[in-house]
Amino acid sequence: MDLEEAREALFAQINALAGSESIPIDQAHGRVLSAAVTAQLPLPPFPASAMDGYAVRQQDISDHGTLQIVGQSLAGHPYTGPIEAGECARIFTGAVVPEGADLIVLQERVAEVLTDGDGYETVRFEPHEADENYIRPIGNDVQRGQLMAQPGDELSPLLLGALAAAGVSEISAYRRPKVGIFSSGDELRDPGTPPQALALGEIYDSNSFTVAGLLRQLPIELITLDRLPDDPDAVEKALAQASQSCDMLITSGGVSVGDADFIGATIARLGQLSFWRLNLKPGKPLAFGNIGDCWIFGLPGNPVSTIVTCMLLVLPSLKVLCGASPAPLLRIRATLTSPVSHRPGRAEYQRGIYSQNPQSTTAVSVRHTGDQGSNRLSTFAGANCLIEIPKDSGDLAAGADVCILPLSDLLC
Ligand code: AMP
Ligand code: MG
Repeated sequence: MDLEEAREALFAQINALAGSESIPIDQAHGRVLSAAVTAQLPLPPFPASAMDGYAVRQQDISDHGTLQIVGQSLAGHPYTGPIEAGECARIFTGAVVPEGADLIVLQERVAEVLTDGDGYETVRFEPHEADENYIRPIGNDVQRGQLMAQPGDELSPLLLGALAAAGVSEISAYRRPKVGIFSSGDELRDPGTPPQALALGEIYDSNSFTVAGLLRQLPIELITLDRLPDDPDAVEKALAQASQSCDMLITSGGVSVGDADFIGATIARLGQLSFWRLNLKPGKPLAFGNIGDCWIFGLPGNPVSTIVTCMLLVLPSLKVLCGASPAPLLRIRATLTSPVSHRPGRAEYQRGIYSQNPQSTTAVSVRHTGDQGSNRLSTFAGANCLIEIPKDSGDLAAGADVCILPLSDLLC
């Protein structure tokens, strides 16, 4: 299965979890809306001044040499009286434009402000043509009842700000999936174990950390579970048990055809195994299926393969489980500045560093990060994208056109 086929198959099977909950907006960041939200009032809710100056009747500017200042309107402290002929009010940005006024004369246009013996103030403006009235009418930004957001929308700080402004204090969100992460392999030890305590052949478990880190920004309840040993009975017991309480399980390692690879077989025995061979490098062996109501991804164990498949397949699937609509991958055209070797057969996702081409304001250049071995976590050092080498492509020379997938898009 090619990457896009695999993604489609996943998005076709996985749906948002049933059930939603009501959440105050100050706790809703990152959650996914399960119901539409409409504006509770128009914005602005009153005619508002866009500038500091004087609220006047446009006609008066030509009719009267000077206007009497009858009051002031500040943001939150409106002048409540009307503006009659020959009058004006001092006004500031965001303040209510008093009734009768239909123009804000900018304070830069004031020729002089005079105070007479009784304390009355008048203002005279320089002769000028106003290019706009600097009044924001009611509903100029948002209409009352306007649809602000739909089910499936993710609550970013920007959307939350817009909802707060429109008088929305509580939203309805999909339930947070409970996601369990397993590493597998007898060779793995916890970071923190002193290096000299590692027996020959033992290595540190890094996948638990990268997978948990990649998923951390999602609206999920994440639990790191005890490592799976290379023992079929223990794997079966652990997966059966975890699938009872989790909505999704993610394992790494133990999915190829080695003697000690039990994940695929265990999923097939306990539930359904949907597919487990991807036309992808890195990341060829990948198990996906379900045990009862719990989805399960068996990712390959090589750390780079784990990360790449997690970014391209697991993260987007999990977003769908969280209620979001599946989004297509963002591909940007770029010019290779380092040659790439690639054998036709599988699409490859090399780690790359892209930057703006110094010769152009729009063009993007990209180079890979060196030897792309799927064990080499160091290929991610400094990387900010994946370079997509199409499956039919052979070696590519510097100067070739490629597509890149920015990590900033994959990880958001
Ligand atoms: P496997 O698919 O279990 O044969 O694992 C493939 C390679 O990835 C082996 O070299 C494993 O030692 C390594 N590996 C598997 N799981 C992890 C992990 N959690 N952290 C680091 N390396 C791992
Ligand atoms: Mg293993």
